[in-house]
Amino acid sequence: MLRGSGVEEPASASTRSADAWSVTSGGRLLDLIRTGRARTRRDLLELTGLSRSTVATRVDQLVSAGYLRESSLRETGARGRPSTVLAFNERHGLVLSADVGATHARAMLSDLAGVCLGETARSLRISDGLHECLEWLQAAWRRMLRDAGPELPPVVGIGVGIPGPVDVRTGRPVRLPIMPGWHDHPVRERLEDAFGVPAFVENDANLMALGEFSVAAPECPSLLFIKVATGIGAGMVVDGHLVRGVNGGSGDIGHVRVTSTDDGPVCACGARGCLAASASGGAISRHLAEAGAPASTSREAMDLAHRGDPLAVSLVRSSGLQIGEVLATAVSLINPGVLVVGGDVTRAQEHFMPALKERLFQRTQPLATRDLRVTTSDLGDRAGVAGGVALVVEEIYSAGSVDRALATRAC
Ligand SMILES: [Zn+2]
Repeated sequence: MLRGSGVEEPASASTRSADAWSVTSGGRLLDLIRTGRARTRRDLLELTGLSRSTVATRVDQLVSAGYLRESSLRETGARGRPSTVLAFNERHGLVLSADVGATHARAMLSDLAGVCLGETARSLRISDGLHECLEWLQAAWRRMLRDAGPELPPVVGIGVGIPGPVDVRTGRPVRLPIMPGWHDHPVRERLEDAFGVPAFVENDANLMALGEFSVAAPECPSLLFIKVATGIGAGMVVDGHLVRGVNGGSGDIGHVRVTSTDDGPVCACGARGCLAASASGGAISRHLAEAGAPASTSREAMDLAHRGDPLAVSLVRSSGLQIGEVLATAVSLINPGVLVVGGDVTRAQEHFMPALKERLFQRTQPLATRDLRVTTSDLGDRAGVAGGVALVVEEIYSAGSVDRALATRAC
């Protein structure tokens, strides 16, 4: 279920007054309902200060355009009068989402709540080439649409995560060490041309952070997500908003230097001593392979640790300590309510998590961690596609987008 799909209580009186000044349009009213701040016409009246007739007209517009559905359930109001419950229509459209990792890819067709209508995943080395990856994705989505049948709402958008930085202005990948052929490729335009709907390309850790925030932690306004797989990346949602930074470079913490000398291991980016060069799943698997252990991928390395291989356990624990050290800085900066760990490392979480927590809590002040929940991903391998759905919904059903669509409809 997406954040704000109607399960939360309406906002308190204090937050209502803060919101009231900006809420006037139909798109704004939909936003209040979609994000769980309003459930009834009465909530909308109280939140916005609009007249009863204006709220009624705009709600009718939203219902007739298919954005809202009226539930037969009725809430008893303060004066004992029943009021119909309004909810975002999660079948207004469909979303194509995908999470492309360094060695795996997953594609999904879903409704706006992330309810899966088709899903597939496969091993795929992103370093083998951009063309093969995008062709597979497009074929997988087309197959799902065909199998889902004709009686479905239209696809409204595409959300895709890739394992590297993405320029926020162009939606293009930027200098990805593990996938050089992707640099500056117009992935967004290529997908938009293929399916005729808006596409959004995002760094995979950002997308997973959004997925975790939207699905697993709606009660928490700020969340930090760290993906430890072939590489290391982080995503942040602060006060309900994904933090991308000025250019899209925020959260790329795999290349933070963690050695004090110049003789650390060489990273995929070419520098020495990066966190990813010693603590990522890719680094651990290389170390294990050099020692003759059967671990050619990050996932295999984590599985080896899970089975108790002493060297693998030691490397995973060391990774937890190093990443905990770096995350102590991030936690001190943003004071999140939850830190979610995802990626291959969750397969050996019994070794990784205690080490990460040990170092993180050692290196932070109590106020920054007093209410911090440190956990592994609830969504697992599906965090990225869940984030893809959330991203598309946030963009396509934003107040501005809905107002433009309503205006076009009225012409
Ligand atoms: Zn690096």
